[in-house]
Amino acid sequence: MKGYPIPLVPGPVSVPEAIRAAYGIDFGSSDMEGDFFDLYGDVEGKLQDLLDTKNDVVIQSGEGMLALWGALKSALAPRSRVLAVAAGVFGYGFAEMARSLGHDVAIVGFEYDEIPDVERVVERIEAYRPDLVTAVHCETPSGTLARLDGIGHAAREAGALFCVDFVSSGGGVPLSVDGEAIDLGLLGSQKVLSLPPDLAVTTVSDRAWEAIGRVGYVGYDALAPWKEVPACRLLPYTHNWQALEALRLSLEALAAEGKEAVFERHRSVAARCREGLRALGVELHPREEAFCSPTVTAARVPQGWSWSDLDGALREEGLVCGGSYGPLEGKVFRLGHMGSQARPELVDKALEVLGKRLRRL
Ligand SMILES: *Cc1c(COP(=O)(O)O)cnc(C)c1O
Repeated sequence: MKGYPIPLVPGPVSVPEAIRAAYGIDFGSSDMEGDFFDLYGDVEGKLQDLLDTKNDVVIQSGEGMLALWGALKSALAPRSRVLAVAAGVFGYGFAEMARSLGHDVAIVGFEYDEIPDVERVVERIEAYRPDLVTAVHCETPSGTLARLDGIGHAAREAGALFCVDFVSSGGGVPLSVDGEAIDLGLLGSQKVLSLPPDLAVTTVSDRAWEAIGRVGYVGYDALAPWKEVPACRLLPYTHNWQALEALRLSLEALAAEGKEAVFERHRSVAARCREGLRALGVELHPREEAFCSPTVTAARVPQGWSWSDLDGALREEGLVCGGSYGPLEGKVFRLGHMGSQARPELVDKALEVLGKRLRRL
């Protein structure tokens, strides 16, 4: 495959050389070596710091979607009541997933260029009395960042678990798993953490472990076996040691830079991206600028262009970015400035290329 000098796909992001180095190490068997479990514990602690939680953190082979399926299947008894908070492809997708598993699903829905209205969400939780509430922090296809503001506490009061997909925001945006009362927090390795799509990360609260124990789901994506992994040092399958070492390197680099500095880097790069697009006359997709995520910017495909023509023109200039999905397909394109791609010089180059090609039309 051809490489691109200006990579701005909103995940998987480009993997820095220092992280790639971990994949060249000839580790032994994760099942047999104590060193592996020491590394697992070390990485779990670093993820707890990053996500501000005392909850257990499960690290499975897979990527973001594995964490979504694993959480739903593990924590929901047959015919549970699920309330999906939806303002985009992943929010409505969560509802579809829960329905396909045979649950009773209600949606508190919003437009794809909005973020959920917390008051309306809390009212629905109180009225519907769900077993589990799903929400999406960053709706990557819409370029929006939701405010969770007390949804988790309302869910807890109603006796529901709160399951949040922060796959494309976790690590790049201030977020406290414990502060927001998140019972199941879902993260993938290929976004802010800047690894290949190798690992699924799930934070699991005590309440969630209780539900998981009651449900007793068994399967490759099941969370249950991971409760005992750190203490018993037994894995349900051979783990990806190289990826776990790569994750350690990534988390070490984030900690060395400092969480606040990492958040500020994402915030300022996103602001620079929005300002540059506006200067080129490109319209942002989210209805209000306050809805925009610091990790990805979504904009309308400019008039006179199709997404495939724009994509082709930008690739000729060495820039690869993302289209969008669902109702936004063909209408919205996205610059993913998360993790290794949250760099001002990268966004500047992208804006220069975009300006050049838009002027040419
Ligand atoms: C990327 C992403 C996922 C996971 O999708 P993958 O298939 O692992 O790439 C889930 N939710 C959101 C919001 C995402 O951005």
